[in-house]
Parts: sequence; C-alpha cells; structure tokens
Amino acid sequence: MSIRRLPEHLVNRIAAGEVVERPASALKELVENSIDAGARRISISLSEGGLSSIDVVDDGCGMAPDEIALSLERHATSKLPDDAIEAVTTLGFRGEALPSIGSVADLTIESRVRGADGWHRRIDHGELVGEGPAALPPGTRIRVSNLFAKVPARRKFLRSARAEYAACVDVIKRLAMARPDIGFTLEHEGRRAILVAPDEQRVDRVAALTDRDLAENSVAVDYRREAVSLTGVAGLPTFNRGVADHQFLFVNGRPVKDRLLIGAVRGAYQDMLARDRHPVIALFVELPGDQVDVNVHPAKTEVRFRDPGLVRGLIVGGLRAALDEAGHRSVQRPSVAALGNWQAGGLPSPSAPSIPNGFAFGAAAERSGQGSVWDRVSDFAPAPMARAEPAHAAPPEQRSYPMGVARGQVAATYIVAEAEDGLVIVDQHAAHERLVLERMRRAMADGGVARQALLLPEVVEMDETGCDRLESRIGELAEMGLELERFGPKAMLVRATPALLGQGDVQGLVVDLADELGAYDEALSLKEKLDHVAATMACHGSVRAGRTLSVAEMNALLREMEVTPHSGQCNHGRPTWIKLGHGDIEKLFGRK
Ligand code: ADP
Ligand code: MG
Repeated sequence: MSIRRLPEHLVNRIAAGEVVERPASALKELVENSIDAGARRISISLSEGGLSSIDVVDDGCGMAPDEIALSLERHATSKLPDDAIEAVTTLGFRGEALPSIGSVADLTIESRVRGADGWHRRIDHGELVGEGPAALPPGTRIRVSNLFAKVPARRKFLRSARAEYAACVDVIKRLAMARPDIGFTLEHEGRRAILVAPDEQRVDRVAALTDRDLAENSVAVDYRREAVSLTGVAGLPTFNRGVADHQFLFVNGRPVKDRLLIGAVRGAYQDMLARDRHPVIALFVELPGDQVDVNVHPAKTEVRFRDPGLVRGLIVGGLRAALDEAGHRSVQRPSVAALGNWQAGGLPSPSAPSIPNGFAFGAAAERSGQGSVWDRVSDFAPAPMARAEPAHAAPPEQRSYPMGVARGQVAATYIVAEAEDGLVIVDQHAAHERLVLERMRRAMADGGVARQALLLPEVVEMDETGCDRLESRIGELAEMGLELERFGPKAMLVRATPALLGQGDVQGLVVDLADELGAYDEALSLKEKLDHVAATMACHGSVRAGRTLSVAEMNALLREMEVTPHSGQCNHGRPTWIKLGHGDIEKLFGRK
C-alpha cells in the first residue's frame, strides 16, 4: 500500500465529523483498518471496557516506517488511489481515524511489512513521544491507552466500563459477521469473550455470534432484484427476542444501523410477530457502488440509497419469500368488518364477587402460600381444538357476573363464556399475563415479591453482555423475587423465581430479562421501569395459549379479571376479551 495526501477538494467532499467518541468507536476504526489491510486473523484485547486500553493485532500488510508517520497525518490514506469516492470498496477512506485517536489518547503503532524490519511510533495526545525499531511478526499492532485521559469534557460523557465493553462486543460481532473469512478473538481483562476461526460458513458465523440455536430456527435468504441482492439468515418468527439488538444489517459488507433497513425488516415480519417482539436476523445487501452513498455519516453507520423503494421492496420481498418457503406463512389478518360488531375490553367498575367453590386462585392462593392454581395444572397433553364441558359448577346466580360463566375453550387458547347480556371470548394468555402483572405491582407496593426457591438451581447460559447486565441489577431483581448469581463469564445461576409466576420457563425468563435490561439507561432504577420488567416476567409466568383449562380454572380467571384493574387490555395494549351482545348476535343472523 502506498499512502498519499488527499487533495483539498476531496477532503472537503468527505463529510467531516468526529470519528472517535467512545472506546467502541476507536476500536471499530482500528479493526476496520486491519480488515482493509487484508488481515486473516485479528486479535483484540481490552481492559476496563477499552477505557484503559485497547490492543488490536493483525497479520495484514503492515506499514513501512514512513507510512506509519504518514498514517498519523490527517487525511492521509492509502485507500483512495484515485479521486473516485463513489468506487470505494474498503471500510475506511477518510484518513481521519489514526490522527483523531492519536490526539485524544496515548497511541502506539508497531508495524512490519513482510520481508522488512518492524518499526514503532508513539503519540501521546498529539505529541510524538517515541519512535524506533520494533520486534513483531509481519502485520500491525496498535495500542490505545487512556482514551480521553486529558480530555475531561469527553471523559464525562463516557459510560461505565461495563457499558463501554458491551458496545465494543457489539462492534466486533458486527464486523466478524460481515467477514466470516477472517478469524477474530476478543479478550476482556484477560478473559476470552469471542473466538471465531477464519473461513467459516456465513450461517455458522452468525449463529456463533448470536445464538447457537439460530441455525435450526432460521431460513437462508437468497434473493435478487435487478442489480441488487439480499442474502443472509432470517430467524423464524417464533424464534423472536424482546429487544431489537439481535438484528445485524450490512450494506456492501459494511455494518450499518440504517433506519430504512430496520423499517423494512419490521415491515416484512409485521403480521407474524407481536409489536414488542423482534426477529434475530443477519442480512447482507449488495448493490453497485453508484447506487449507495456511504459518505453521509462520519461513523459510516448510515447510508443513502439512490432508490430506497427498490431496497425496501427487496428486503420485504426477499424475507417474505424465504419465510414462506419454510412453510411459516404469515398469520391471517382478522376481518375488520366481522370484528366491527364485537365490543372490546373495558369492564364496568369492578365488583367483588366471591371466588366460586372455594377455589383458591391468584392473590388468595399466594397469601395461603399454595402457589397459583396454574402451577397445579400439569396437563400439557395435546388438546382437542375445541372443547365444551357442561359447567356443573355454575349455580344460576353466576349469570350476573359481568364476564359471564365459562362454557368452553376454543383452540386451547380462548375461553368462551356466557354473560347475561351476551357472549364473551377471552384470550387466556393475554388476560392472565395482565393479572400476573397487576399482582406483581401490588406485591412491589407492599414491599417486595415473595420468592420461591428452585429445588435445583438452574444454570442459564447466555452471552457475557447479558450476564453483565443482569449482574449489575442483582439486588433490584431480588426485590422482584428473582434470585440470581453470576456463574462464570457466560452463565447465570437462578436460585429462586417470583412465587406468583409459578413454575415457568426459567431459561426464557432470564434471557428475555437480560435483553430487556439492555434497552435501559443505567441511570434508571428498575422500579422506574417496573412496568417493563414486570411485564416481561408476567409474560413468562402466564398461562400459555395452547394450554387446556378446566371449567373451574376458566371461571377462576374470569372472576379475577372482574376485580383486577386494567384487566381489559393486555400488557401490549390489545384487548384481553371481547363481547358480542345478544342484540348483535341477532343482527348477525338477520333477525333484526
Ligand atoms: P483510513 O482507514 O480512512 O485510510 P486511517 O486513519 O484509519 O484512515 O488510516 C490511515 C492509513 O494508515 C490507512 O489508509 C492505511 O494505509 C494505514 N493503516 C492503518 N491501520 C493499518 C493496519 N492495521 N495495517 C496496515 N495499514 C494500516
Ligand atoms: Mg481507517
């Protein structure tokens, strides 16, 4: 590589901007340089989340001593041999990163071109402090220490070492996904966090960096429209997560967080996923260089497409085609006209009817320490699609319950009840989730949620970032009834769960909570975000759709709904029940 100074007119065309705002952005620039240098293996080690040091070692082309000096000058790059910014295929091209980093940290570059001797140069906050021979294998080794140590204005805006570390991991995951041909290792405080070998298949690489189960729960995407292509891995709608940070998008091999692309992915999954669930996905868009401008954002994470409609169509069409082929068709949309006659949610002011037949349920069961009635239902046998039992237990006066008396269950998902004034259908999962949330709220207000110890503590494996997030909230989660312990770098040990959740899916609960916590600012206490956390917990403690319920259980659910505030809508804002009045039924049959 030979380095040259860019002429002024080109410098001005390059959107200016600060490239280094935190350790992760410095790391991104360094690793991109290693990739551009043709490295086959890149090793990264960090301490204190990169705040105290970042080391990047590569086996790329290296630099000669004069090139090392030039690389530290602003707008010196080897990557624009002519003036065609549009034709750039490397990750870098601005020639700003190394001088920027060198001006806000202690930066040492050691480098050796194959067949020559190594050389080093050290810059401390813009001052040259050392230069001379260096012993290293061919390639480049760069160390950045004490980032922003002498720039207090910047240091003030940095987050904790833990948060900076999480951002560094995210950067490396994205770059490693873009380049399955390159091997990456990442160590933090001497502990290995990422290890992927060179020359992997793309799907294996994506799975290694997201979720080991992705391979079995995804479809390959391979789609082309005009000169644009879309490839990658798309998680099945059922393999969803609670936050959107498992979405990895790339344009011409460059990781991007582009709003157009994110919106298109959401559009493709729209009617297959609840609004608050997100797919796991890695998508690679390739298109001719003249159709996309990568020069709009200093960190190059946003791009501008010449024909946004074409790209959006490609993503929606490509994802749908791939998901349809896998036999996972989108759910049918309900007919708006048919629903027009149904009345959703919204009870009159809650009355307090007695719990039928001495059936302990919900809050009453908690107080008596028996756990909820749902715990005792162990019948997971495949249910018939629709079922009606004579409701022996219902004495006539129960007809006056606002939610009515249960008459049966449809598709093991909906409770059908008869009220005095019409027919009620309840979504059992949505309704129960809401009840659990309200119970958690009450318990928190009364000073904490009762825990139930697991007979055998359960080990939940997940990525280190997720474990870190949970670990930093251990005290607050304990108040909510979830007792956790760190169990090695990539696992948590669960000792107790909130008693009112019953025996649920501990694994799913803990993984979803880790995701959920990722979406919060560290400054917020969980109490301030109680609704979200409790809702995530409630979702796991709830009666699933697909579970067969006895008539007594159905009635107990209806009675609790009647006395619980906000029970007419689920935690995601959808109705939990609908009612068709007698008059409406008559209209449907043309009797009126
Ligand atoms: P850019 O990547 O935009 O060219 P940088 O400031 O990141 O600007 O790097 C300046 C130049 O230094 C690069 O163009 C490249 O020639 C050289 N360089 C930087 N890092 C490496 C590396 N790891 N291996 C070889 N050359 C490098
Ligand atoms: Mg660069």
